[in-house]
Amino acid sequence: MSDSLSLPAGPMGQWPELLPGWVWLCGAGPGDPGLLTIHAVNALRQADVVIYDALVQEAILDWAPQAEHVYAGKRGGKPSAKQRDISLRLVDMAKAGKRVLRLKGGDPFVFGRGGEEAQTLIQHGVPVRIIPGISAGIGGLAYAGIPVTHRDVNQSVTFVTGHDQSGATPTSLNWRAIAEGAQVLVIYMGMKHVAQISGALIDAGRARNEPVAVVCSATTPEQRVLETTLGDMVADIDAAGLEPPAILCVGRSVLMRQVLDWQGLMAGESPRNLDPLNRGRPAEVS
Ligand code: SAH
Repeated sequence: MSDSLSLPAGPMGQWPELLPGWVWLCGAGPGDPGLLTIHAVNALRQADVVIYDALVQEAILDWAPQAEHVYAGKRGGKPSAKQRDISLRLVDMAKAGKRVLRLKGGDPFVFGRGGEEAQTLIQHGVPVRIIPGISAGIGGLAYAGIPVTHRDVNQSVTFVTGHDQSGATPTSLNWRAIAEGAQVLVIYMGMKHVAQISGALIDAGRARNEPVAVVCSATTPEQRVLETTLGDMVADIDAAGLEPPAILCVGRSVLMRQVLDWQGLMAGESPRNLDPLNRGRPAEVS
């Protein structure tokens, strides 16, 4: 058992020990190191090697000064490391007796291919632990002041990926069904194909003036938030020069930012609208 965290005992007594030959597949959250879980910090403190993705903020590696840091993402236009190669590299490191921490942005099981990596590890007899993280589509929106559910807006959320492994818009996605069925849409990896996505949603009947937020580099010092509409988003993203990574949120929950932009409030701004959903009564009253 590990005593590497000077924290009260964990839920199961003590914080788990990252043993040689194990791989812990761990979410790093959307960026802000404060959004790491305690299990993630416990892992960072013990790892011999941290193998991390492009979306992991490098500041987080400072939590593992003793470890070797191995980058396994895409950078500078070079082709990304192949998924199969990464998985097999994890197997090799574990078989070499290392304490391996595989760190992925957000949550490893949300559009992160964590399921594939864990499956390969288990197929090769490597013991694994999964450590969930705060996904960008939830925590990133919260940093932008957008509640992913709100009683007056939605009773469901649809998480969608804007492109598949090959970089194309997923052909398996039925945008018409999504447009008709989804109350609030949270789109990951949507920037590349934003024109097709907004066009498909409008063609399928979503209103051109439906609110949209584009949250870039959420929870990092570079966070930028654009409030726009389905009809204007392509032009507005272009005009603002916004770059991935970004979460797109389509739906009336975006309006809540007019009152809940807590970072703006911290910076001294006033709330733009105390009742953006026009309830006309206190927030808690049904
Ligand atoms: N496993 C991750 C998602 C990986 S897919 C998670 O749970 O968050 C990569 C996509 O996630 C990016 O294209 C972007 O849409 C989104 N994303 C990840 N980090 C982000 C951030 N800090 N700000 C905005 N979007 C982010």
